[in-house]
Amino acid sequence: MSPTVRVTADNETCVTSSLCVYRVPEVFDQDEEGRVVVLDSRPSADLLTELHRARRSCPTRSIHVEVEEAPET
Ligand code: SF4
Repeated sequence: MSPTVRVTADNETCVTSSLCVYRVPEVFDQDEEGRVVVLDSRPSADLLTELHRARRSCPTRSIHVEVEEAPET
């Protein structure tokens, strides 16, 4: 089974750089002031590589990605 992915973003610290929206438009958008909005807080694990890139490239470390591995059966 794929791991469960949870994405959160802190729009208080977001400086509206748009990098996350550019990298993963399926998950991130911006509000009318340009601050980050999470469109999908439980995206597919297929997006993990891009999500981690977005997390690392955020200039204010406003993006958080948690991965919960599926239990062994
Ligand atoms: S990359 Fe960071 S600072 Fe830029 S829009 Fe996304 S959350 Fe905001």
